[in-house]
Amino acid sequence: MALFRSVSFAVAALALAWGCSRTEAADEQDATAVKPSELNLYTARHYDSDLALYEQFTQETGIVINRIEGSADQLVARIRAEGAGSPADVFIAADAGALRRAQDAGVFQPVSSAELEARIPSALREPSGLWFGLTRRARIVAYDSSKVRPEEIDDYADLASSRFAGKLCVRSSDSVYNLSLVGALIEALGTEEARAWTRGVVANMARPPQGGDRDQIRAVGAGECEVALTNSYYYLRMRTGEDEADREVTEKVALAFPSLGGQGAHVNISGGGVVATAPNRENAVRFLEFLASQNAQAHTASFNSEFPVSDDTPWPEGIAPYRSFVAHPMPVHTFAGRQSEALTLMTEAGWK
Ligand code: FE
Repeated sequence: MALFRSVSFAVAALALAWGCSRTEAADEQDATAVKPSELNLYTARHYDSDLALYEQFTQETGIVINRIEGSADQLVARIRAEGAGSPADVFIAADAGALRRAQDAGVFQPVSSAELEARIPSALREPSGLWFGLTRRARIVAYDSSKVRPEEIDDYADLASSRFAGKLCVRSSDSVYNLSLVGALIEALGTEEARAWTRGVVANMARPPQGGDRDQIRAVGAGECEVALTNSYYYLRMRTGEDEADREVTEKVALAFPSLGGQGAHVNISGGGVVATAPNRENAVRFLEFLASQNAQAHTASFNSEFPVSDDTPWPEGIAPYRSFVAHPMPVHTFAGRQSEALTLMTEAGWK
């Protein structure tokens, strides 16, 4: 409700401003411009910090955002069921593989925007403009700094080596983050090496896969395992967050950025694109451009500890120490299409 109240206030203020500067020539144009403008956002992101951004967009543009949340697959199914009459303008998901599944389901239309192309490196967007990475997240390793030396995990291959037999915590194979990581291993190393890696990982598990990324970090903190796979922002949010127990965990658990075949850490994106049937296409492009702005990226880096996609964006204090990490140059759209192959390998290996 708070969102809608401030939105109608912004629209009223806009109408008032126009009322004061009205000329006869402008009258006709204003009749359409003043009409409340909308954007229907279907998003699989569920972060409170995003709401402040949406409100800012409305204040800047007068465009009211109607937000529908769900899992990526639920939202894709909904857009498909709604068909040509779908109100959806923008679809956002927190994983490249999820964006690719939406692409395969025909959810997106291509967008060409000089601003998006300038702000977002080509490796972080779909080549024909179907979807764009708007934040980055590295899938890396949280380790017990009293038991593990960082050089023992400078490559993802180390997680599958006998050094970590019975010492590894991971979440399940239906985690899209794990599916994208294994997809990237297939892309970088080939199917056979990726298969061997999934087997090594399963052999090293300290316990059956369970919980989310934060639970893996807490398990390292509790001594249940020495190393765990996690997305960077979960650790960084625990380190800077309100929960004292979680902050204590991050004092004994450190982050390592392993390399994939010597080329850098696996980086995934959260991003989105314009829906094929978008009734408010212009607003949709404008919204993506807003999210790619330096200001919006800095906001998400500050409040959700995700890494910016654009080089010119300042890194806030909480994540600044990691700015120099080496990201694998692999284009995200290449591993995004490998989730089903990844699942097959993981399932064959017994990764629950
Ligand atoms: Fe997440």
